[in-house]
Amino acid sequence: MSRTKKKITQADLKPPDLNQCQADKREGGPFSFMTLGPIPPLKRCTNKPSVLVKEIKPGKDGLMGSMTLCKDCFVQFCMLECPTRDQYEFEEIK
Ligand SMILES: [Zn+2]
Repeated sequence: MSRTKKKITQADLKPPDLNQCQADKREGGPFSFMTLGPIPPLKRCTNKPSVLVKEIKPGKDGLMGSMTLCKDCFVQFCMLECPTRDQYEFEEIK
């Protein structure tokens, strides 16, 4: 039996929150990264989630996490993660 010394373990992952979307948004709109000056702080989306996103292949950290997203954030997520979509599984939240 070998003990692995990893910084993050599966147990450290945040569990999916079925009551609130878990996406972090930048205040000031999607183009705020184009502006110079201080980066606006991330603010957690306050919408009710409608999709549970699960990693079905280990990510960069070697772990498989899951998170909930509302419809709006899910659309954003799909556009961003389009090339790696087969890495995820989606489940509708009722
Ligand atoms: Zn959201």
